[in-house]
Amino acid sequence: MIEITDIEKIYRLGGETIKALDKVTLSIKEGEFTSIMGPSGSGKSTLMNILGLLDRFDNGKYMLNGTDVTELSDDQLAGVRNKEIGFVFQSFNLMARMNVLENVMLPLVYAKVPADERKKRATEALEKVGLGDRLYHLTNEISGGQKQRVAIARSIVNRPSVLMADEPTGNLDSKTTEDIMRIFQDLNDEGTTIVMVTHEPEMAAYTKRIVHFRDGQITEDETVTPKQLSK
Ligand code: ADP
Ligand code: ADP
Repeated sequence: MIEITDIEKIYRLGGETIKALDKVTLSIKEGEFTSIMGPSGSGKSTLMNILGLLDRFDNGKYMLNGTDVTELSDDQLAGVRNKEIGFVFQSFNLMARMNVLENVMLPLVYAKVPADERKKRATEALEKVGLGDRLYHLTNEISGGQKQRVAIARSIVNRPSVLMADEPTGNLDSKTTEDIMRIFQDLNDEGTTIVMVTHEPEMAAYTKRIVHFRDGQITEDETVTPKQLSK
């Protein structure tokens, strides 16, 4: 599904250059639940932004679902991104003036899905994350954990081939964190491919594969038995 080869990313700040990714090669298959784990500044967000087609790289090759996306134009990248990738961020990134249902319908508006179908699919996605009874609340009327569940519903409503989450529980307490990780595990059990960026080993422990990252390079890649959450 995801195959990157020898990816390099260099940031130039004034006269200084920072090599954020140093020949990273990684392959992720359909159905995996992978964490990219490493300390702050190791290049995890840079990698996720490239995997998610939010940012470009300087050298290397990226094949996504059999398509070489290396040479695509910005418009083409946006098209592939909207179709193939769902995002969940630490900061939720919800629209404050919209209610829960409208937030989740938004990707379907961009995808030109008809209105009645939008409502049906957004409601289903919200029921899946346990928010079927909060459809018409504004996002400032719900808790942080509920906000992140709205963001997860929004990320899956377009049925992307991969869900990318960058420190998704960074702003949440430990009980809420477990709720969110259970939702990710359930989605993965149903077949959703998930890539999660984290600096916390406790978070990576919920995934099936831990790719260790340091100074822009993969230092270890291990298959693990995910920590199970009690139902
Ligand atoms: P992580 O997500 O692991 O904390 P990042 O990918 O954010 O790491 O950063 C990797 C390195 O690249 C760091 O040295 C960071 O300061 C640098 N970096 C990240 N984004 C930018 C940017 N937009 N401009 C310049 N340097 C950046
Ligand atoms: P994270 O917590 O995900 O690692 P950061 O705080 O490292 O996030 O970065 C937040 C944003 O700032 C990202 O979009 C990243 O690309 C950018 N960024 C990080 N380091 C730098 C830097 N040295 N110069 C400019 N932008 C940076």
